[in-house]
Amino acid sequence: MTTKTEPELAVTACPDCGHRIALKGRAELGRRLTCLHCGAELKVTGTEPLKVARAFSQ
Ligand SMILES: [Zn+2]
Repeated sequence: MTTKTEPELAVTACPDCGHRIALKGRAELGRRLTCLHCGAELKVTGTEPLKVARAFSQ
């Protein structure tokens, strides 16, 4: 059985520095990630298309 699969790698840009961010695996709302370029803590706010926003830890 073949089904269309979602891309395994979702790509977006850091809202802070604009650096390209690749999210491995499945993008889930609320998933946290860190920009490898500027170190900003981000979280996923949208999946189609992938969107991220700053996540404030406190
Ligand atoms: Zn960044």
